[in-house]
Amino acid sequence: QRLSGPAEQRLLELLSYGLVVLGAASALLLCFIPMPYGRYSSRRFGCLLPARPAWLLQELPALLIPLGLAACSGAARVAERPNGVLLGLFVVHYAHRALVFPLLIREGKPTPLFTFVLALLFCVYNGYLQGRSLSNYAKYPSTWLKEPFFIAGFLGWLIGMAINIHSDHILRNLRKPGETGYAIPRGGMFEYVSGANFFGEILEWFGFAIACCTIQSLAFALCTLFILGSRAKQHHQWYLEKFEDYPKSRKILIPFVY
Ligand code: NDP
Repeated sequence: QRLSGPAEQRLLELLSYGLVVLGAASALLLCFIPMPYGRYSSRRFGCLLPARPAWLLQELPALLIPLGLAACSGAARVAERPNGVLLGLFVVHYAHRALVFPLLIREGKPTPLFTFVLALLFCVYNGYLQGRSLSNYAKYPSTWLKEPFFIAGFLGWLIGMAINIHSDHILRNLRKPGETGYAIPRGGMFEYVSGANFFGEILEWFGFAIACCTIQSLAFALCTLFILGSRAKQHHQWYLEKFEDYPKSRKILIPFVY
């Protein structure tokens, strides 16, 4: 028998706690080993896959699963406007991440199979978690889209996504076609933090969590903070080691704070 109703709601709650634990455990592990992709890519973690198809395939489940769940879930809440809009925010992000971002990558380092599989599993897990909770269970008053929580969260999501896309654009343009090296990123939020793209992504998912007010969305935001916070710290240390003229006032992740 298919899991549904209170039993599935309980499962979604447990998966949310699981996501936070996974994020925290990864952050702990990442204190010792950098996440093996991009500049830390290594053959020790399996055969190397080209960056573009790896990003496309690993991120695609987070786009297709919520869309599939929304399409299949009979008496779905997604027909209600707040649920449809909130699910739309998630889908818009992953449409960009899975379909646009890989096409724009310039000479990205290959992804080890291990990292690819982890990212793929994460996208399946989280695609189901966010997709199912928003398409079937989260309940909102019909006025939710006019309420302060939604408006504040939506603005956070929007500004975060803009910072993320703009910062990734700055990074991409540090390389001319055919180049594979690294340079000091300048401009935009990089004037304040080394992990400007990560800061944008974290802001985006905390905005989403405020707009959704679900335990599932909060778990995703916390998991993103743990994982990308560690990656920002590693990048910051890496820049300080590689570039003598790296701006000393630049923080790691949060402007003026950290
Ligand atoms: P990075 O900042 O490590 O790299 C982004 C791209 O820019 C890569 O193609 C990289 O090349 C290139 N690049 C980075 N720094 C430089 C530099 N100094 N000079 C030249 N080129 C540079 O980001 P990630 O690859 O870790 O992440 C990409 C996107 O995915 C980000 O927007 C991030 O927020 C998102 N993401 C989200 C996660 C989540 O949990 N929600 C998890 C991981 C990523 P190369 O590959 O050769 O290093």
